[in-house]
Amino acid sequence: MADEYYGYVGTLLKVNLTDMTVEKIPTNTYDTDKWIGGRGLGSIIQWTECPTTAGALDPENVLTFLTGSLTGTMLDGGRTFVQAVSPAGYPDTGSFARSSFGSSFAPEMKFAGYDGIIFMGKAPYPVYFYINDDIAEIRDARDLWGMDNFAVQNELYRRSGNKAKIASIGPAGEHMSMFSTILSDESSATGMGSFGAVMGSKNLKAISIQGTGSVKVADPQGLLDLVEYTQNLCCRKLYETTPEAPANSYVGSWQASLPLTDTDLYKEARDPEGKLEIAYTGCYSCPWGGCGYGVRFKDGSGMSLGQLRCTEAIPVSAESAACGEYVGRAHMKRLTLNERLGLSDCNTWFQGLDPIFQAGNILTEENTGIDWTNFGTEDFTRELMYSVAYQSTEVGAAIAKGWRYFLEEYIGTPEAKYFYRAIRGIRNSPKHNGGGVCGWYIPGAYLAPGLLRFATSNLNATDIRCTGAETYLLFGSNGDLLPPGSDEWQALVDGNSTKLFGSPQVYEDIRNWDWESDSIAPFCKWNHQFKALDDSLIFCYIAMSAMGIYSNYTEGHEGDFDIPKKLFKVVTGIDFGEEEEAAFGERMFLLERAILTRQGCDRNDDLLFDEVYQEYSAENLENSFYQTETGLTKEHYEKMLDAWYEVMGFDVATGMPKVSTFEAAGVPEIADRLVSEYGVQLPA
Ligand code: SF4
Repeated sequence: MADEYYGYVGTLLKVNLTDMTVEKIPTNTYDTDKWIGGRGLGSIIQWTECPTTAGALDPENVLTFLTGSLTGTMLDGGRTFVQAVSPAGYPDTGSFARSSFGSSFAPEMKFAGYDGIIFMGKAPYPVYFYINDDIAEIRDARDLWGMDNFAVQNELYRRSGNKAKIASIGPAGEHMSMFSTILSDESSATGMGSFGAVMGSKNLKAISIQGTGSVKVADPQGLLDLVEYTQNLCCRKLYETTPEAPANSYVGSWQASLPLTDTDLYKEARDPEGKLEIAYTGCYSCPWGGCGYGVRFKDGSGMSLGQLRCTEAIPVSAESAACGEYVGRAHMKRLTLNERLGLSDCNTWFQGLDPIFQAGNILTEENTGIDWTNFGTEDFTRELMYSVAYQSTEVGAAIAKGWRYFLEEYIGTPEAKYFYRAIRGIRNSPKHNGGGVCGWYIPGAYLAPGLLRFATSNLNATDIRCTGAETYLLFGSNGDLLPPGSDEWQALVDGNSTKLFGSPQVYEDIRNWDWESDSIAPFCKWNHQFKALDDSLIFCYIAMSAMGIYSNYTEGHEGDFDIPKKLFKVVTGIDFGEEEEAAFGERMFLLERAILTRQGCDRNDDLLFDEVYQEYSAENLENSFYQTETGLTKEHYEKMLDAWYEVMGFDVATGMPKVSTFEAAGVPEIADRLVSEYGVQLPA
């Protein structure tokens, strides 16, 4: 990083909660030329600062909140990257994990003059961290402990004169539930990693930030041009938007069904004085024109009454359309309570409980102490959520340790394995499977590369970065605009495949469910590395997935995968060519893998549950949505995995990166440390 910073603001805050001290250090202490920011910077900080013996809830665990070089500019998405050792492992104690949240928290951190915050130690009593430009101090939060997320954020917002951007934990984090999140505004949360529990273990209730600075940009005119280019690519021009036609047509497609498009009855009950309005919402400088809706106070005071964004809005919308607005509204109420309590997406875990409940007589009053006959009702749901957040009942406390623990405890190991598998993920790793608590599991959505991507993620088998945007394009959810199978659709699919891999064959193989294709390993490698770059710059991955592959507004519907790179250039002045992009992705993925390797991860952690092969058998797939007869066998999968190790430069027998791979990536010091300090027997 040069002396004059473009994109960065140049300072990190190192907060020792045990000593109650705050130190300002140069961001480049951790070599931003090599690790850029966000996920990259957070990973090198973990590698450097976090002792390998640190348990997730130990004071020694290091918790980072990082911005990226694009954060606080005009087109980034405002995400904050959070990393630490996660408690969400079972029966192991968890491993290094990451998550991120949107809102305006990260840009505000840059405006206050900081690229990130590193928390170490444990405060002697509940505290919050207060930043107001140059002032950065630890403050007493004993009066805030016990408040839900909306209450504590409202209080800190009020104390800041309605200026601060806040991230906080609710009761679930305070009680260290595995389902806990960190929340910023009403709906932006760290959905993975159980990081609310890590904050809780450090007695850290919230972070309140306000700043008056700005981020210097190397090429301001270039940035303005790029903003216009991107808007033309992925959303309506702002002056063309109306309530019926929001900036992003994808968002508009679910608007009609949301319970927020209110009935008069609802308005009368909730808003007799007309103080509320329904508004589009989005993170700071969303490149996609915003992806959410919320009900907020017209005068801008206080937290809104609820907000739905992205993946939250889709099921609510679908449910409202299918079952009526009342059902959708109940769903939204659950989500809002979820966010107040600081739990991870309750809808996915209720969906997870559903097959167990449907199987009958597995969860009974006798073995759990609660009456399951009301399962699915609003009262039952609310009570269960409270008991998981506060661990106020035996069952609540057991669920708070993760589904895998709960199911094994209450219904025995073999059945637990079946249902655990049905709830969460595909990977039979005690470290990576997250104890079955959070993330995403999309039954039937794993095409060949998707399956391999999830299984080899450096996070866990529910890593949202592994959802395959290409799935939508290949199998067609772009509706009338680009009918699957049409000539135009075929041209776009072939074009994307050629652009990324030099040939249409790669997408062709994927579409044909060719588990033995040579295309799968390089595809998987590209996905991991591309997302690593996105997350380090930081550019919203939700927006990027959509705008890379497809546009509603360009001729031929072509998207642009290079937008993050182009932005990086105009913001920092650094021209990141294709080779550097690949080299960064490689280095970054290798660093994360090294952190996991020192925690004991190897090939065994990349293997699948045996039940996956049953689910992907020819018979099951033939009768599925995909109607393919090409089933997956263990041999297929292990062959794909071997091929992936080969392209990654990892040892096939152990799954560990080779010394020569670290050397080729320009980071031999990481291999040296693995061998000399941690005693890892790295293959040559
Ligand atoms: S697409 Fe959604 S999550 Fe991403 S930046 Fe925009 S509003 Fe935030």
